[in-house]
Amino acid sequence: YGFSRRGIRGNFVPPIKSNGGNTGNMTTRATGKDDALDDSTRRCLEILCGPDGELPEKLRNLEPRLIEHVSNEIMDRDPNVRWDDIAGLEHAKKCVTEMVIWPLLRPDIFKGCRSPGKGLLLFGPPGTGKTMIGKAIAGEAKATFFYISASSLTSKWIGEGEKLVRALFGVASCRQPAVIFVDEIDSLLSQRKSEGEHESSRRLKTQFLIEMEGFDSGSEQILLIGATNRPQELDEAARRRLTKRLYIPLPSSEARAWIVRNLLEKDGLFKLSKEEIDTICNLTEGYSGSDMKNLVKDASMGPLREALKQGIEITKLKKEDMRPVTLQDFEKALQEVRPSVSLSELGTYDEWNKQFGSLS
Ligand code: ADP
Repeated sequence: YGFSRRGIRGNFVPPIKSNGGNTGNMTTRATGKDDALDDSTRRCLEILCGPDGELPEKLRNLEPRLIEHVSNEIMDRDPNVRWDDIAGLEHAKKCVTEMVIWPLLRPDIFKGCRSPGKGLLLFGPPGTGKTMIGKAIAGEAKATFFYISASSLTSKWIGEGEKLVRALFGVASCRQPAVIFVDEIDSLLSQRKSEGEHESSRRLKTQFLIEMEGFDSGSEQILLIGATNRPQELDEAARRRLTKRLYIPLPSSEARAWIVRNLLEKDGLFKLSKEEIDTICNLTEGYSGSDMKNLVKDASMGPLREALKQGIEITKLKKEDMRPVTLQDFEKALQEVRPSVSLSELGTYDEWNKQFGSLS
């Protein structure tokens, strides 16, 4: 029973064939014919098989195309972000290292009294590095990274979100240690219970909480990170499961300077003096990390535009024809790129942090 691995082009026999019944239907529905899985789906399932050539229990009742979607679209094989790429946020980095990275690296030490929570919430304004932190955690802890936007579960996967959630947690448990990053988690676990709350979104929420409960109690090395710009929308059940809640604020002046320098240096365009950088920092109070990135992008177009204005053709333009980026380029860019977070929004985060945040 089960299925044997007969190489990539071999005739893949899904495990569902062997026990028939309900599971057989799943595959039939997914593929039209039990053994009609295409090569990519087959490869994807083969990778997830144990040494015995069997698909792990958790994945057996799931539709192959959903497993494939999780493996190809949601699982990020190379998150490619390190701590050093993230400006500022020293406090968050320190907490995350202790709470999350050490336990993932040394599960033997972090058990019993030291056993870590399995749910982490990163909240704060958009574009402040929450996703970067999630990726860096996976990178530093050598874990597999899964990224899903909760709003896609309700919009793109209408009616199927529940099954996709099962596939997501199922694949993650085969890929431990794993970090599951759920962006906009408020849209999934919101406390708003409008009259017309769809049955399907309620079921999705329930399924999600069940999955979380499942790995929270076990010895699985899976960490769930939820990110949100609207923490106040989370209900009590969600807060209870996301035991650590870290505020990821707007970048400090030093962090903004670091972002400017880092991005320009990478491209060999940095030639600003200390005073000029200070001026830029003073002018960018309230800008998020991603606002800063957009600002640098815009400013770095200045030298290019100027060179073209002098009559050099774009096809003939050489790097040497362009001067470094100046303070004036930034001053111009500041008129185009405005901060995306308002003061009043910031107040909301502070309040929520005081009430529910961890280690602040
Ligand atoms: P969030 O998840 O908080 O909405 P992201 O982590 O996706 O924000 O950040 C968006 C982009 O903004 C990043 O790819 C990065 O270029 C830039 N950025 C944001 N915060 C920082 C930071 N602290 N350090 C460096 N870059 C940042």
